[in-house]
Amino acid sequence: MDENHPVLSIVVPMHNEQDNLDYLFERLKDVLDRLSLSYEIICIDDGSRDRTLPMLVKHHYLDSRIKIISFSRNFGKEIALTAGIDYANGDAVIPIDADLQDPPELIEALISKWREGYDVVYATRRSRLGESWLKRFTAGGFYRVIDKIGSITIPRDTGDFRLLDRRVVDVLKQLPERTRFMKGLFAWVGFRQTSILFDRQERYQGRSSWNYWRLWNFAVDGITSFSLLPLKVWSYVGIIFSLFAFLYATFLIVRTLILGVDVPGYASIMVAVLFLGGIQLITLGIFGEYLGRIYEEVKGRPLYLVRDRYGLDDLPAPP
Ligand code: UDP
Ligand code: MG
Repeated sequence: MDENHPVLSIVVPMHNEQDNLDYLFERLKDVLDRLSLSYEIICIDDGSRDRTLPMLVKHHYLDSRIKIISFSRNFGKEIALTAGIDYANGDAVIPIDADLQDPPELIEALISKWREGYDVVYATRRSRLGESWLKRFTAGGFYRVIDKIGSITIPRDTGDFRLLDRRVVDVLKQLPERTRFMKGLFAWVGFRQTSILFDRQERYQGRSSWNYWRLWNFAVDGITSFSLLPLKVWSYVGIIFSLFAFLYATFLIVRTLILGVDVPGYASIMVAVLFLGGIQLITLGIFGEYLGRIYEEVKGRPLYLVRDRYGLDDLPAPP
């Protein structure tokens, strides 16, 4: 088996996952050894503050197929995934969560679809155990919105757990954007995609690092990355308002000419001013969302900073 060119790269982003580690590797190895393929497990320590890194290092020395990228701080799951994909050497790459919400046993099914010739095999949740109705509801809303106004269709109830063929990985690595909305990028690239169904499990140990504010920002990232509608809709809103304003102005002029000056009107003026002021602020905010992202792109800072690496070579310098 060639250590530097395995068939399969498993990519695991980890943020404070010390209690899941041992069990994760046990389950993963169980499955992978049964497949009799060469593999590597690339773990990204995304600025964990617990014992995730020392435990990973221990595992690395026990089994050199477990490789580690340790970030200088927390960069977020999307970026951790990006790093994993950058460093992966396999012919196929499978990102998987560390908390065992994505059952490793499914890897077998992913691989058999891959063997049939698909480039992307994603795992779609049949059910979501242990998630509140609010999370399900907001997630549902998000998929509907992006489907309507985005330039892509993101498969519903699908996380990052999927198999990516080398072809797709090479394309993903070339995408230069800083806002890494991976689910969207996976869909955007196209290629031959198919899905399999599974039951999403509850988190094994520890807590989810996502709160609603983070999820909201995640959703905004997704929408701004794949739709320009929020930016463009305002000219149409403006046209409609101007039309109404014109009609109303005509009415007022005619009425004043016929009936003379009419002083009352405080309420209607206030309503109009406040309403339009609100709309203008929203517009500005939306411009700001896009502008901020343009600024991020222009700054061109590296996506992540690696503090330590175990078992992985330097990345070739970007072209
Ligand atoms: N994760 C990460 N960086 C973060 C947050 C999460 O690498 O800043 C990892 C986390 O360790 C886990 C995966 O991303 O492996 C999914 O995270 P989590 O279970 O918290 O999210 P959820 O399942 O609730 O969507
Ligand atoms: Mg989870």
